[in-house]
Amino acid sequence: MTALATFTEELQRVLCVVAHPDDMEYGGSAAVAEWTSAGVEVSYLLLTAGEAGMRDRDPNEVAPLRAAEQRRACELVGVSDLQILDLPDGLLQADVATRARIAHRIRQVRPDAIMCTTWQLETPWGLNHADHRAAGLAVVDAIRDADNPWLFRGQLTGDGLSPWATKWLLVNGAEPTHVLPLSPEAVQKGIASLAAHQEYLAALPDHPTPQDLVSGICSEGGERAGLEHALPVRVFPM
Ligand SMILES: [Zn+2]
Repeated sequence: MTALATFTEELQRVLCVVAHPDDMEYGGSAAVAEWTSAGVEVSYLLLTAGEAGMRDRDPNEVAPLRAAEQRRACELVGVSDLQILDLPDGLLQADVATRARIAHRIRQVRPDAIMCTTWQLETPWGLNHADHRAAGLAVVDAIRDADNPWLFRGQLTGDGLSPWATKWLLVNGAEPTHVLPLSPEAVQKGIASLAAHQEYLAALPDHPTPQDLVSGICSEGGERAGLEHALPVRVFPM
């Protein structure tokens, strides 16, 4: 296996777009910790509140609980800009309405790079969730939409926002082309940010510990590039 190259583009702003609270916390947030410690501004856009994610708890109770856990997870990796949309958890679609919401946020944040999770059905850890597939596909399309001056000019995305061209898409969980090197501190923050989803994780049967899970992802990523710790990502120039 040839070693993966390091992604070395200089970034000022990164927007992370995922379906649920906790989706960034499987390695992605360790990269976020590395960026924020270097002064990169990072924003999170969650498409749903993850309200249908706990079998024994009512969605009305779960949505604020998971938002609070996500805010804590964000604080731990230096992110204060968190937006959670009200699209339906479990029933997310990569439709025009979802694309418009994402494109709107892209035009507001004006990121150099966007991080999302893989839209593939089959992943190394099993069959991917419907919302994750929809979120990834909607991000791909919304990046193009956001740069098209003729799309979403109405009230859905607000008047007066200029088109924006995102340069890079970084996909977490897909067959990687690059790695994002991580310091041991960033890995520790990444572990802590997953652990912040305390009640959610406690409700999952047989969930591995955040320590084992995140350090495993980051060590394996490091091995692919001859580094101690790294997050493997699939990079698309847009
Ligand atoms: Zn998820």
